[in-house]
Formats: sequence, C-alpha cells, structure tokens
Amino acid sequence: MSTKKLAVIGGGASGICSAIEAKYRDNTIDVTVFERLPKVAKKILATGNGRCNFTNENLSPVHFHGDTFFLRKVLTSSYADTENYFRSLGLISYSEDGRIYPRSQQAASLRDILIQKLNESDVTVKTETPVTDIQTVKSGFKVNGEYFDAVIVSGGGNAAAVHGSDGSCYKLLEKLGHTKTPLYPALCGLTVSDKNLNILKGVRAEAKASLYCGNELLGEESGEIQFTDKAISGIPVMNLSHLCKNNKDLSLSIDLCEEISQNELREHFKIIKNSAPERDIETVLSGVVNTKIGFAAMNKSGIKPHTKIGKLSPALAEMLCNVLKNFTFTVTGTKGFDNAQITCGGIKTTEISPDTMMSNIISGLFICGEIVDIHGDCGGYNLHLAWTTGRIAGNAAAEYIINKG
Ligand SMILES: Cc1cc2nc3c(=O)[nH]c(=O)nc-3n(C[C@H](O)[C@H](O)[C@H](O)COP(=O)(O)OP(=O)(O)OC[C@H]3O[C@@H](n4cnc5c(N)ncnc54)[C@H](O)[C@@H]3O)c2cc1C
Repeated sequence: MSTKKLAVIGGGASGICSAIEAKYRDNTIDVTVFERLPKVAKKILATGNGRCNFTNENLSPVHFHGDTFFLRKVLTSSYADTENYFRSLGLISYSEDGRIYPRSQQAASLRDILIQKLNESDVTVKTETPVTDIQTVKSGFKVNGEYFDAVIVSGGGNAAAVHGSDGSCYKLLEKLGHTKTPLYPALCGLTVSDKNLNILKGVRAEAKASLYCGNELLGEESGEIQFTDKAISGIPVMNLSHLCKNNKDLSLSIDLCEEISQNELREHFKIIKNSAPERDIETVLSGVVNTKIGFAAMNKSGIKPHTKIGKLSPALAEMLCNVLKNFTFTVTGTKGFDNAQITCGGIKTTEISPDTMMSNIISGLFICGEIVDIHGDCGGYNLHLAWTTGRIAGNAAAEYIINKG
C-alpha cells in the first residue's frame, strides 16, 4: 500500500498543531508543512508582547465573535485541555488574571516545543516554500504540483504580514470555490482626530471606552487606555476595533473617572470651590486625574489656564464634569492590517463543518485558524481558536485519509 500524504499550508499556530495531531492520529501518514517564511511559527514569538498569552481561564462565549452555532461546536474543550495539551508537550504555564502564559514568560519556549514536537513526529517542514497553487485531481490534490490525499489550509489572515500571513491563502481557497466575508483589521488601535491628543499622547489611564456609530452604542470596554500620537489604543479599544468595520460617523467616548459618578464629581468640585476658591483648576484636577488629562479636559471644556475654581461658572463646571465622564473623539479609522493582531472576517463558516473543519464544498480539504470567519478578544482567545481548530482539522484529516483507504 502506498504512503498516504497530507499537506498543511502554513506553519503557524494552527498549522503546526494540525500536523502534530494528524501524526498522532496515524503516524504512517506522510505529513508536509509548507511555510513561505524561512522559519515556521514566526508570529508566535510576537504574541503577548513576547510572552505568548496562549489561552484564557475564562472561555465564555462573549469573548468570541462570529457564527455562534459554529463557535459552540468548535469550542467544546476547556482552557485546561489546552493547558494540559501544552503540558503534555513539555510546557508548564501560569495564569495572570486568567490569561495563560508559558511559565518561562517567553513565547520562544512554546514555539520551540512545537517545533521540537514537529521534528519528533517526523513531519516534513518545507520552509521558504509559498504555496501558489492547489488543484483538485482524481481522489486528491496537487499542491504546487505535488500529489496529496488531503490538504489543510492554515495560512492565517491579513493581519501583521511581517509575521508571514499575507492573505494569499484566501485566494487559493477562493479559486477552489470558497467565499470570504469582508475583511477588517481587528485588535488594533483606533485613529482619532482631536487636537487634545497632542496633550494626551503618552498617557496611560484606567478608563471605560464606548464606541458609537452616530447615537448607537456599538460596544464598551474598561481597562487601560493608551493615548498615542494620532490614535488611542490599549486592550479596551483594541477589543472594540472589530466593530468599526466600514462604519462612518464613529466616535469614541472615554470615561476617565469610571468609578466616580458625575454627581460625585460635581460635589467634589463644589466642596473645593467653597473651601479653596483661589485654587487653580489645574491643581484641583491633578487631585482627580493625570495632569495631562486635566489640561486636556480644561482645553476641551474651554476653560483658560490658571482659572480659579471660585470663578468657574456653573455651566463650565458642568462641562468639565461632562468631559471627564465622556471625553469624545471622532474616530477616523483603525491602525490598519499592519498594526492589527488579527483579521475580522474570513472564509464563511457555512462552508466548513465545525466537527471536522472540512470544507463542505471539497472533501479532503480542511480549513483552520485565523483564516476562518471567527475571532476572539484580546487575552489568548485567538491562539486558543488556532490550537483548537488546528487540532480538530489534523485529527479529522488523518481520519479522512484512513477511511479513504
Ligand atoms: C503582534 C501580535 C500579537 C498577538 N498576541 C496574541 C496573544 O498574546 N494571544 C492570542 O491569542 N493571539 C495573539 N495574536 C493573534 C494570533 O497570533 C493569531 O490569531 C494566530 O497566530 C493565528 O494562527 P494561524 O495559524 O491561523 O495563522 P498564523 O499564525 O498567521 O500562521 C499562518 C502561517 O502561514 C504561512 N503562510 C501564509 N500563506 C502561505 C502560503 N501561501 N504558503 C505557505 N505558507 C503560508 C505564514 O507565513 C504563517 O507562518 C497576536 C497577533 C499579533 C500579530
């Protein structure tokens, strides 16, 4: 009997896991990973700021976005399954507020263990080998002209092309009859226009960010916000970025005093106005927020520097409270695919079986990882999807090849 062959297109998180899983299911299958870069798993090194936040203790559905039926079918394993899977490969992990990292605090540990396992499993890795052509032939496929019994496409999305995923696999799948939903950069900062950003740049603050389209609230998230040159970033904003899509009339309202009600803020200023009327507003504000936020809030409210609190009109005092609770920025866009961690959108889930990740259009073709139209929040959710869908695809592809006989 001739050796059966499986091709994996893309040596990233999902592809590597799928290859390892296929070999684990049946080690007589000849598995080849095709990777366009000189090394596999380059992106993993960049994840979690070099520490690789690879799953999360809280896998609640609210942290995943896309086809809920599909996601429910795919996400049957717990975070502990993922943690134990990596433990079985030799990686000990630890939790930081529910986010799971390698104990070494080095993404390279996880990357190295995956590469080691690929080698130990006798997977052939062809680096610097971009796949430019997949064709269906009698009872199988030709990948760059070479015959395979089944193919797993795990080439990632459009985000962060510098780490390898250049979107080429969407085109390969489209040529095979698949369709993709519109693609948007996600888990990235939002570009905003407001002259106060000049004052705020460099500031980090705990705050609540609310994204609006006109008057409609699209979503809100709390956490550390970062003001940069022309953008606002930080995990809460990154988690909202997937809601921007092509929407016009977007604005971001930042509550810079989330745990203090507007009433409490008003009362606080009133007390100081009565007890210390000669105090500058900037000094009053420095008792509440970061100094730069105080200056920006005064500027936005139209309050002149060195205004004494005793001289502040009730209308301006109210305006200041409003600005601190709803500092609103016009959103001009996102930081784009180059600065995004993931792609929102992808190959339609209705064209893939969630039980096997096999194409509903072509038998023997499996699709996994970020290329599929599902995604997660910041916090280990996207790698969790990559490992999980990769393992399902690898196991099912091996099963498919075995049953093919
Ligand atoms: C800076 C950054 C930080 C991140 N941090 C986290 C984090 O901490 N936690 C988390 O959960 N997620 C994080 N993510 C997201 C996560 O890394 C991705 O969602 C995940 O890697 C997707 O896995 P994948 O296997 O689908 O695709 P990828 O990891 O992108 O791998 C795809 C691979 O396929 C190769 N390839 C593409 N096309 C071809 C082709 N035609 N032929 C051959 N090879 C091809 C690419 O070179 C690449 O190696 C981060 C992303 C970035 C960019």
